[in-house]
Amino acid sequence: MRSSYAIGVDVGGTRIAVGLVERKGRIIKDAKSLTPKGGPFAIVDEVIDMVAEVSDVVKQGEIVGIGIGLPAQIDFARQSVEFCTNLPLAGVDVRSLVMSRVRHHVTMDNDGNLAAFGESKYGAAKGIRHFAMITLGTGVGGGMFIGGDPYRGFRGLGGEIGHMVVQLDGPPCPCGGNGHVESYLGRPAIAAKGRDVAVTHRGRAILEVAGGDVNLITAEDVIKASFAGDQAATEILMEAGVVLGKTLVGIVNLLNPQMIVVGGGIGEACPFMIDRAAEVIAAEALAGRRDVRVVAAELGNDAGVLGAAALAFEESDSKEGLNR
Ligand SMILES: [Zn+2]
Repeated sequence: MRSSYAIGVDVGGTRIAVGLVERKGRIIKDAKSLTPKGGPFAIVDEVIDMVAEVSDVVKQGEIVGIGIGLPAQIDFARQSVEFCTNLPLAGVDVRSLVMSRVRHHVTMDNDGNLAAFGESKYGAAKGIRHFAMITLGTGVGGGMFIGGDPYRGFRGLGGEIGHMVVQLDGPPCPCGGNGHVESYLGRPAIAAKGRDVAVTHRGRAILEVAGGDVNLITAEDVIKASFAGDQAATEILMEAGVVLGKTLVGIVNLLNPQMIVVGGGIGEACPFMIDRAAEVIAAEALAGRRDVRVVAAELGNDAGVLGAAALAFEESDSKEGLNR
């Protein structure tokens, strides 16, 4: 009998979410907590407790495995964490630590790849064989499906759309590079643009949304001011839409996808940014590729858990799955 459930674990810089997910994508039971600050073992302990909490409503034999998404560069073939900006997990053998204490098979992947997995199995890209996903949040991530399969590259590190160069010698990116997509579209970049304009008369609406303190302005404040009709905030987000569009022109020209899915907290909050990007693609992509659909992700806050569960199902179903 095919087992019917997977456990999806979404470890973020501030929160951890874990869900017991049935094969069709319904979350049966979930748990959420703040990411512990006490180092890698505290994070692993928390994950194990949460897995136990959600999995007690079904028989253990009905669970195919656990998928874990991390905001990290993960060598998928080795299942190792190579680099992790926001959490102390680089070089930590997270998978073995978890597997030594639970009965289930564990597979890890980068959160951008898993967002693509979730949209492919349960969301906007269901049935779409060629698509790229870009997630706009604090970081900018992404993933690609080519011919119905995830494309991760030689060592499983591919899909980092957020770290493509859009401007030579552009502003610094948290990864250490310059002029990367993330240095324009990540939350800190949008917040910084909001702060720049908020110290001028034009930006007073943004300043008001943030309670009058320019240092407290967030990307969400810029979005809020824009939805309240503020011109300066809307311009910041429209310019971000152009950067997004130009980035995606490169991807569309390279991959000729059927669809681009834009997700993450910022992407989902700004449908007009997605529309602006679609206009840029329609105007600038090479001939024959412009019919690509540019859509918002559908899984919202559950994207991480559902993507991780989708990976666990996929690993379990695939004959060539990781059996190490
Ligand atoms: Zn970068």
